[in-house]
Amino acid sequence: MEISDFGKKFVFMPDATRGAVRALTSKQLEDTGTEAIVTNTLHLLMTPGLEKMKKLGGIKNFMNWKGTVLTDSGGFQVFSLIHSKKWKGVVHDNGATFKSPRTGDMYELTPESSIDMQMAIGSDVLVTLDDCRSTNIERIEAEESVSRTIDWASRCKKHFEEKYGGTKETGKLLSCVVQGANFLDLRKKCAQELSAIGFDGYNFGGFVIADNGELVLDEMRAVIENTPKEKFKYAMGVGKPEDIKIVAGLGYKVFDTVLVTRNARHGTLYSNDCENGVLRIKNAEYSLDERPIDSNCDCYTCQKHSRAYIHHLIKVDEVTGLTLTTIHNLRYYQRIIESLNQQSY
Ligand SMILES: [Zn+2]
Repeated sequence: MEISDFGKKFVFMPDATRGAVRALTSKQLEDTGTEAIVTNTLHLLMTPGLEKMKKLGGIKNFMNWKGTVLTDSGGFQVFSLIHSKKWKGVVHDNGATFKSPRTGDMYELTPESSIDMQMAIGSDVLVTLDDCRSTNIERIEAEESVSRTIDWASRCKKHFEEKYGGTKETGKLLSCVVQGANFLDLRKKCAQELSAIGFDGYNFGGFVIADNGELVLDEMRAVIENTPKEKFKYAMGVGKPEDIKIVAGLGYKVFDTVLVTRNARHGTLYSNDCENGVLRIKNAEYSLDERPIDSNCDCYTCQKHSRAYIHHLIKVDEVTGLTLTTIHNLRYYQRIIESLNQQSY
């Protein structure tokens, strides 16, 4: 995929948090039809670190991945870890200062340092640092989050342009994150002000599922309606197969979720052969089942192995089981994306 074409068609990105989609080689990943991955700036900042990442020629060279790489800004994780007191650190007007739980080293994540790390990773699609909060926040907190998010996005863009030459020199894309929690007017304001600064893509930030379990469709629509039509829209953290289809209808083209690979590792597999679309491979009923997970799936796992074999591997915690289930779940998602793309052209 040409970077300039990113987000022009539907794309699903699995999480390669530390430089690998867990249990898969880069070749196996490619064979699922995956064209882009998300890597985690915060984890890579701590290990192997910015200087080593640069010396290693960036993540694509490191993991021998020819596809597209999108990096998150590192903000979402560090803020939630600090807010939940799982990590020692402080969030401030300039970003966050925190201590690595592994090494005890201190780090500072600012709009500028986030861009520097994403550049060291060799990202194709960068994301600006945003001030993300937990769900159900008061208006005053949402206002502060929106104002910091806009300020930091502007600083990220300035730094990306002044130090690296911006999209023009690097060919990389810079996307921003729209915050505003459940306040429609704040979502609109954030979207409009970020649009005035100008980015290559607009990402829906914050929680996509409300307490009642429903997608926050009004908020998601407000972002689509108040950002430039021709720029890509990324529904961060969406989601379940049925949610992807709904959100795609609003105008979002880019998706990611940890569910696909996490479910695979827990033995929750997607299958159109089952009534509710899900097959729990650990169930005893599959111990002698010689059918593939999904009779219409063209993945390696379904072509070569039975439910019984995978049931056995997962039951005895055999690592190969995780590889086979991850291949299947990921391919299942990429087939949904392929069918969305066929419908829209
Ligand atoms: Zn399959």
